[in-house]
Amino acid sequence: MKFKLAERMEHLKTSEIRELLKLTEQPDLISFAGGLPAPELFPIEEIKLISLKVLSNEGTNALQYGPTEGYTPLRKLIAEQRMKAVGVNTTFENILITSGSQQGLDFTGKIFLNKDDVVICESPSYLGAINAFKAYMPKFVEIPMDDNGMIIDELEKALKKFPNAKFIYTIPDFQNPTGKTLSYERRIKMLELAEKYNIPIIEDSPYSELRFEGETIPSIKSLDKKGLVIYLGTFSKTFCPGLRLGWICAEPEILSKYIIVKQSADLQTSSISQREAAAFMQTYNLNEHIDKIRAIYKRRRDLMIEMIKQEFPNNVKYTLPQGGLFIWVTLPENVDATELLKIAIENKVAFVPGNSFFPNGGHTNHFRLNFSNMTENKIIEGIKRLGKILKENI
Ligand code: PMP
Repeated sequence: MKFKLAERMEHLKTSEIRELLKLTEQPDLISFAGGLPAPELFPIEEIKLISLKVLSNEGTNALQYGPTEGYTPLRKLIAEQRMKAVGVNTTFENILITSGSQQGLDFTGKIFLNKDDVVICESPSYLGAINAFKAYMPKFVEIPMDDNGMIIDELEKALKKFPNAKFIYTIPDFQNPTGKTLSYERRIKMLELAEKYNIPIIEDSPYSELRFEGETIPSIKSLDKKGLVIYLGTFSKTFCPGLRLGWICAEPEILSKYIIVKQSADLQTSSISQREAAAFMQTYNLNEHIDKIRAIYKRRRDLMIEMIKQEFPNNVKYTLPQGGLFIWVTLPENVDATELLKIAIENKVAFVPGNSFFPNGGHTNHFRLNFSNMTENKIIEGIKRLGKILKENI
C-alpha cells in the first residue's frame, strides 16, 4: 500500500468469509446467507402511486435539503406508531431519522468510543455492529447467551471487571445471528445493572415487530425510567431496506450528540425517502403490511425447521426462533463451518459461518441460516443439499 492510512484501517480488513460469500451471488445458488427481506413482499405498486403523489404535491421539498433531525411528519408517525408498537410513549422530539439503523451503530461508536474502551455485547453479535464499532478500536467483552438471551450473571461479572465499559449493545428480539430473545426478567435485570453502573444500553431492534407466536415482550426502552436506553429502529425489515430509513429514539441530552454527528456525516437522511415513507404510512396501513410479512416468514420458518429436522444429522443443534429472520446452527466442536461453506458453495447452497459474529474470534462450529429471502421450494431443496453435505462431512 503506497498510502499512509489511519490506524483504524488495520482493524477493518476484508475477511475470507466475505470473499467466499461473493461466490454466492450466482443466480442458480440457493443462498441462506444474506439477511435480506423477501423481495416479493415489497409494496411496489403502492410505492409507485405514493412517489407520484409526493412529487406532485411536495416535489420541491422532496428534492430539497431538509433538517438534520428528519422530516417532522415522519418523526411524528414513528413516535405515534412504531415506538408505541414496542411500548414506548414518546414524542417526535426524541426521534432522529438516520440512513438505516446501521448509521445509528456507526454514530454510537463515534460518540462513545475512544481507542481501547470496552464494549459489552452478546456472544455472538451482529457482524455489522461489530465492524462499525471496530473502526473506533474498542475492546469487545462478549457475554455468553442461553435460550433466554444474554446471561445476566455473566453481564454482572463483566461490569464488575470493567465498570467503565462505555455501553451494552444488545439485539433483544430474535437476535441476529441466533434468533434468540432476551426474556422479560432479564430485561429488567439488565436495566438494573445499567443503572447501577450508569452505563447506556444500545437496544438494536430491527426484528421486534416480526414476532410469529408467543407473547410480545416489552422493549427495554419501554421499561427504562432513567433515560439510559438508546433505541435503534428501522424500516428495513418491516417495509423496504432500499429506502435506507432508520431512527434513533433517545433522551434529548444524548440525541443532541447524534444530531451533531449526523450533521457532519451526511447532513440529513434522503428528503424523498422520508416523504415516501410518511405518505405510505398516511395512505396505507403499515401494520397490515407487517402482518403479511409475519405470515409469510412464519411459514418459511416452519418449513425450514421441518426440513432441518428431517435432513440434518442428530448431532447438529439449532435454535427455534419465535420471529425474525434467522436460525443458528451448532455443529460438533471439531467442525469448521468455513470449510463446510466451501463444499456448500460447490453444491450451490450457502450460509454464513458463525465465527464472523464473534468479535474476538474462535467458535468455528456454527453457522447462520436466513429463512426470509428464499421461496418455499428453494428452502426444501437448499436444506436437502445442506443435509447431505452435513451427513457426508461431519
Ligand atoms: N442491526 C441489526 C441487528 C441488523 O440485523 C441490521 C441489518 N441486517 C441492521 C442493524 C442494519 O439495518 P439497516 O441499516 O438496514 O436499518
